Amino acid sequence: MRRFGGIEAGGSKFVCGVGSGPEDLESIEFPTAGPEETVARCVAYFKDQERVEGVGIASFGPIDSDPLSATFGYITSTPKTAWRNFDFAGAVRKALGVPVAFDTDVNAAARAEFQWGAAQGLTTFLYVTVGTGIGGGAMVNGRMLHGRGHPEMGHVRVPHDRARDPFPGNCPYHGDCLEGLAAAPAIAARWGQAPHLLPSDHPAWGLEAEYLALGLLNWIATLAPERIILGGGVMARKGLLTGVCGRVMELMNGYMNLPAMVAPALDARAGVLGAIALAAAG
Ligand code: ZN
Repeated sequence: MRRFGGIEAGGSKFVCGVGSGPEDLESIEFPTAGPEETVARCVAYFKDQERVEGVGIASFGPIDSDPLSATFGYITSTPKTAWRNFDFAGAVRKALGVPVAFDTDVNAAARAEFQWGAAQGLTTFLYVTVGTGIGGGAMVNGRMLHGRGHPEMGHVRVPHDRARDPFPGNCPYHGDCLEGLAAAPAIAARWGQAPHLLPSDHPAWGLEAEYLALGLLNWIATLAPERIILGGGVMARKGLLTGVCGRVMELMNGYMNLPAMVAPALDARAGVLGAIALAAAG
């Protein structure tokens, strides 16, 4: 059995794991600190383990994931200033002497769902996460979609009816892009309460379903995915997925065949499993 290492690098916590898949995955987690200290902790963990063939990093972003770029493997313009322009993949490669694969956390989670979860056997699907931010990872014709950089699907524009929703949006770059209207911090800022504290009959959820459906219509029309997996902390709200699906169907108005929209099949380990899948894919 080929064994790989995975690093799920999040803004607040890191998960490091080794294994070949969900059956034999062993992992640890610790809080994110500065880049040198955090990478040293990852390296120490892998040095304690049986040797792995390679390591995958599923990173918060934005990152440079273009293998042809001189700064491949770097974290780029993150608001976490200590990590800005940090050669993340290079630091891990130097310390461990194994190949290091590098992609966004959302692309890695999409890969994990493809390998072991809700996207098995598909060639074109979309994985969307709605939490602290909104991100999308797409596999198109059997390959993860990368262009000049990784897609930033959360920053698409959607119609914003200011009479229904006077909240101006809180994306620092765009104000009322989808992420600025519908990620968890936007919900909290609009209603003055963290999303998990809002009751299920609160108008927040109808509005949330509306915005997510509008975003999904853009991605469905562009990618024609066979399936869409909707994950992340906000999507864990009971009833939201059903509300989103219903609104997508109404807004599409019978024009295209709609993909199935489903919850992720993997649990909180999707990130680190995705990093391992990334390493295995080379
Ligand atoms: Zn934005």
